[in-house]
Amino acid sequence: MTLYQGQALRLEMLGDGFAELVLDLDGSSVNKLDRATLADLCAALEVLEHTALRGVLVRSAKPAFVVGADVSEFPALFEAGEGALHAWLEQALDSLGRLESLPYPSVAAINGFALGGGLELALATDYRVLAEEARVGLPEVTLGICPGFGGTVRLSRLVGVADALDWLLEGKPRKAGAALTAGVADRVVAPEALRQEALELLGEVAEGGDWQARRARKRRPVAVPDGIAARGDTLDPRYPAPQAILAAVQTHAGLQFAEALQVERETFVALARGPEAASLVGLFLADQAVRKQARRHAEGAAPVRRAAVLGAGIMGGGIAYQAAASGTPILMKDIRAEALDLGMRTATAQLDRQIAKGKLSEAQKAAILERVTPTLDWQGFAEVDLLVEAVVERADVKAAVLGEAEGLLAADAVLASNTSTISIDRLAEGLKHPERFCGMHFFNPVPMMPLVEVIRGRHTDEATLARTVAFAQALGKTPIVVGDCPGFLVNRVLFPYFNGFNRLLQNGVDFERIDRVMEAFGWPMGPAYLADVIGLDTMVHADRVLQAGYPARMGHDGEPVMEQLLAAGCLGQKNGRGFYLYGTDEQGRRQREPSAEARALLGTPGAEVSDQDIVDRLMIPLCLETVRCLEDGIVASAAEADMGLVLGLGFPRFRGGALRYIQNQGLAEFAARARRHAHHGGLYQLTDDFRARLHSGQRYH
Ligand code: NAD
Repeated sequence: MTLYQGQALRLEMLGDGFAELVLDLDGSSVNKLDRATLADLCAALEVLEHTALRGVLVRSAKPAFVVGADVSEFPALFEAGEGALHAWLEQALDSLGRLESLPYPSVAAINGFALGGGLELALATDYRVLAEEARVGLPEVTLGICPGFGGTVRLSRLVGVADALDWLLEGKPRKAGAALTAGVADRVVAPEALRQEALELLGEVAEGGDWQARRARKRRPVAVPDGIAARGDTLDPRYPAPQAILAAVQTHAGLQFAEALQVERETFVALARGPEAASLVGLFLADQAVRKQARRHAEGAAPVRRAAVLGAGIMGGGIAYQAAASGTPILMKDIRAEALDLGMRTATAQLDRQIAKGKLSEAQKAAILERVTPTLDWQGFAEVDLLVEAVVERADVKAAVLGEAEGLLAADAVLASNTSTISIDRLAEGLKHPERFCGMHFFNPVPMMPLVEVIRGRHTDEATLARTVAFAQALGKTPIVVGDCPGFLVNRVLFPYFNGFNRLLQNGVDFERIDRVMEAFGWPMGPAYLADVIGLDTMVHADRVLQAGYPARMGHDGEPVMEQLLAAGCLGQKNGRGFYLYGTDEQGRRQREPSAEARALLGTPGAEVSDQDIVDRLMIPLCLETVRCLEDGIVASAAEADMGLVLGLGFPRFRGGALRYIQNQGLAEFAARARRHAHHGGLYQLTDDFRARLHSGQRYH
């Protein structure tokens, strides 16, 4: 008999005085604790409270228990104000509190994922039975918030403060076995036996089990072990959520249950109202949007059964390795046998590292290497579905090899170039079938960097684009389709940042200080060190391309410092001389110190420059160039633009990408800063569209 039927769940009478609450959100592949589900839960509890029962089972009819709250509801909710947030949390807390206070025991049967709100729901029941494949956790910290449905309180009382903090601060889903060891799970069973075993447990505890004592224990204050506060020293101060969770748990451990929930609720509201949560939640949603967009692009694509790469250098070797490791056989062609040997040695070293970490077996390594065919000739190219050109960055060399390759490939094969700077339309000029050509821009090092820019040329057809996007996905990468222009998306916005850096150097600001300020801002490395890592030759080459592409705003006054360093023979890390000097100490440890030669090139210091000025003079050009890319249609959406910068450049995640960074400051504040620096040139000029948004209030996100 059905006791209650809602949109998200139903309540069934099972006989013998037991009932089951079945989570089954209509029209969704997963259960979420969205507003509709919370309303249904409230209604079902009304029925449960007024039905004489011996126990209730909570389970899911979907392949996962509950994946969490509905993150897509967060942006509007977080911006709606403190009152709305408190009301939402109170409703959820009230429902879970009522579930926990039913006058009979409850058991949750957990299959698949029980994350965030899903685990918090399960923590409000008396017992938890997990299927062997289940994964449970509280990942809120990764979104810049804390659990808000009682998770920090119930977990710390259930497993102790120290273990609870491990779960809360890491935010990683745990396996069923780990949940059992920690005391989060009471039993772990085979997936097919889950419902039956959970019902058996419910029957057992209903017959004189200790559920009431357990319930009381779960609500009692717990001790904070010595030394817990010291965990704060290991947390990244730029991310407020871990610090706030640590403080909240220490504060509420000794309080009565209701007061403890109050502490958690206030912590949640404070975090949810902050810019870091907006950034991290925004990126979570942007990631989903970018994947969806890629799936749409790749729809109907013919799979790439065999691939080829031209050039066995840093990039070609990486692409060959990545294809082989993901299961696609690949031909790797170079004109020099030494390059092929180096490419194979690099791939082998990469695989050996994985073996050392226990992630790969010798047999798997052999199978991967077998998929790479090094070659000096064109044999086998007629069977290739997609070819990536990754030879030296010279338009004449690329045009020649692309023309030659085109004549040998099958009629429906895709030709792609990994060029970082040369226009795809220009490279297409010499081709007979420019519609089958596009850019496929990987980032260095290929195995590590998740982004691939797929560049649509003027003539590129949809089938070519679809197949290239699908291939990038098959390699485990995140493809973003961008338009053709100097620098495409990522380098086009990176070089304005370096242009701002150069102007600071010319104003006598020391690069070591700039690096320190930008690292504190959140970048993995400052601009001087990054330029050394990329290589000053590569930097200067790309900068010239961008200057030529956008002379009005990307030109320099006087000779840029990087050009001067390059002219003096400094290549950066690769020859040990750049902004820094690189070497090793007596113990063989790598060392880096600022180069006096580079310091001598700094301009005469003028007026005092604050740390905020340093940030603004680098970030404003980068942000405004991102704005221009969006306006020019180089990138289709703010979500893709910001995701591209996070994945391709290492843009600080807690700042959410360039457009989110503008949004978080407020367009008016950003505009005021840009105006303050307007005398530094065109890179600091607001666009007409930006001004229009400023007046209309239209947002980027
Ligand atoms: P690299 O110098 O390490 O390798 C280039 C390889 O191409 C060399 O092994 C060379 O022997 C080979 N080659 C030259 N002419 C050839 C031909 N006619 N046929 C076959 N092979 C030929 O260069 P790289 O850093 O791997 O860069 C390759 C491409 O990738 C360039 O277009 C570069 O702009 C682009 N790219 C580089 C990076 C990076 O960080 N290194 C990042 C993204 C894109």
